[in-house]
Amino acid sequence: MKIVKHIANLGYGSRKQVALMFREGRVTDAAGEVLYADDPVEHDNIRVDGQPLDPAPGLIIMLHKPVGYTCSTKDPGRIIYDLLPARFRLRSPLLSPVGRLDRDTSGLLLMTDDGGLLHRIVSPKSKLAKVYEAQLAQPLRGEEVDVFASGELMLESETTPLAPAAMQVISPSQARLTLTEGRYHQVRRMFAAVGNHVQALHRSAVGGLGLGDLPAGQWRILDAADLQQLF
Ligand code: URA
Repeated sequence: MKIVKHIANLGYGSRKQVALMFREGRVTDAAGEVLYADDPVEHDNIRVDGQPLDPAPGLIIMLHKPVGYTCSTKDPGRIIYDLLPARFRLRSPLLSPVGRLDRDTSGLLLMTDDGGLLHRIVSPKSKLAKVYEAQLAQPLRGEEVDVFASGELMLESETTPLAPAAMQVISPSQARLTLTEGRYHQVRRMFAAVGNHVQALHRSAVGGLGLGDLPAGQWRILDAADLQQLF
């Protein structure tokens, strides 16, 4: 791909604007030599205004999503893209959330621009564990562990029962739930099905990948070692 298009796709501007950046001498190599739009040059060797380029496509990040942000590009309220650098929402391909968390759910959200990787993670075949911590309105009754593990729980308006899910009791009104599928509002609907109500929900892990000490609202790029925790 031509470097003008490559840089434009990273959200630095339209192709016209990026071509102008070249003419203004703002695009250089790592040694500070001014580049021309048709120079064959690798991503890692390009600087704009002296700064390395944003990461190349094929990116996967984890975001510690706070409560109150929607996994959408268009919602009139706060959206997850507000938490990323402004240029990131102009990237093509765009970073998309890998599955979704409700607006009122916090925790680990993966985002990638790699369609193959996204598909691999969300595919029902991957059976990737998603771990949720739920704060409940009512004390647990004691039957929930067995009901969720049964593989027979049918949610309203669904045609197939839920796969078995493991639940640990953390306190009388707090539970940790490990799911291997991702149906719409699944955790909230599961607790509703056993007569309870989820007051707060947090996703603490996907596969073997946790948030570590990443603060709410922050994000980081995943590396190969992180990816090994997923597959
Ligand atoms: N289950 C839910 O109910 N909400 C989420 O955001 C994720 C899982």
